[in-house]
Amino acid sequence: MISAPWATIDHAALRHNLKRVREVAPGSRIWAVIKANAYGHGAVEVARALMVEGFAVARLDEAQRLRVAGERRPLLVMGGVYSAAALAQAAELGCEPALHDAAQVHRVKQAGARSLRVWLKVNTGMNRLGLAPEEAARWLVRLRDHPVGLMTHLANADDPADPLTEIQCQRLRALPGADACPLNIGNSAGILGCAAARSDWVRPGIMLYGVSPFLGETGVQRSLRSVMTLRAPLIAINQCQSGDRIGYGGSYICPEAMPIGVIGIGYGDGYPRHAPDGTPVLLGGRRVPLIGRVSMDMLTLDLRSVPTAHLGQVAVLWGQDLPVEEIAAAAGTIGYELLTGVTARVPREHINRSPTPLN
Ligand SMILES: *Cc1c(COP(=O)(O)O)cnc(C)c1O
Repeated sequence: MISAPWATIDHAALRHNLKRVREVAPGSRIWAVIKANAYGHGAVEVARALMVEGFAVARLDEAQRLRVAGERRPLLVMGGVYSAAALAQAAELGCEPALHDAAQVHRVKQAGARSLRVWLKVNTGMNRLGLAPEEAARWLVRLRDHPVGLMTHLANADDPADPLTEIQCQRLRALPGADACPLNIGNSAGILGCAAARSDWVRPGIMLYGVSPFLGETGVQRSLRSVMTLRAPLIAINQCQSGDRIGYGGSYICPEAMPIGVIGIGYGDGYPRHAPDGTPVLLGGRRVPLIGRVSMDMLTLDLRSVPTAHLGQVAVLWGQDLPVEEIAAAAGTIGYELLTGVTARVPREHINRSPTPLN
């Protein structure tokens, strides 16, 4: 009997979601964002599944792992390079770093690394990382012998009503010299929600994995298909009595005699510990309510609605028929965090691979 959880990663769904990006932003080149192990899906495998112009990661060591695995396409390192040694390593790996402060740009100028395209990251309103627009414009002049692009990150594009998204795009587009270099703006929410964010290059992440970037909706509403299905087996069924308390802290008290199911997955696998009573789990195609506290390796279900439940039966924690967005909302977080948080002990099973790897 299967006793442990696993995650299925559907490459056909990945390819479908990429096609959606192409449909929405037909004029853009795509950096598929595969930071954080491709949001928990497996960076090397996801890269092999996607026919794109390049990949974006947050950190240099993520880029290095892709190169070691044989990935040859362009790599954008979005998080900056913090020393001359890191810059030299980026050049050696053939990565295109984003540079977000004067010291980083200065090093590029000093190194004279003219074959290395760099992206000036401009702060247009997120106020996290980035050069001020005027500062970026000055650097564009000083770096005129280098291949340079302009990049910015959108702060509130997940709220289509927020005018800041359009303003951020216009701030980048209006920067002196912007018309002469490639622009790199849209994340998933920008791509889907704002025409001005569909720039020469775009950086879709979450939508490739089938999840909507917008608050209060799911990927299906954007014609996306969920890529990860997280499954775990039913490992015990207990007949409990009225008044019995379930699990740590005994937070759930049985209102009557009832069957309780134990599923072999917990927060040690990345299932959110804050999922409250009533969070749905799919068992035999039905939504069954979670009850009691999620433990490290297990969680418990109220089985009153599924008399046919049996040991070894496989439950779905999230996937196409149970959006991760819904579980995230119940647990007070976002789909990004749940996908990224699936831990290393959960094996990933890749299905529907393309017959020829793309790198
Ligand atoms: C993570 C990230 C993205 C991708 O964002 P999604 O919302 O997942 O599409 C794009 N750009 C930057 C700078 C990022 O850090």
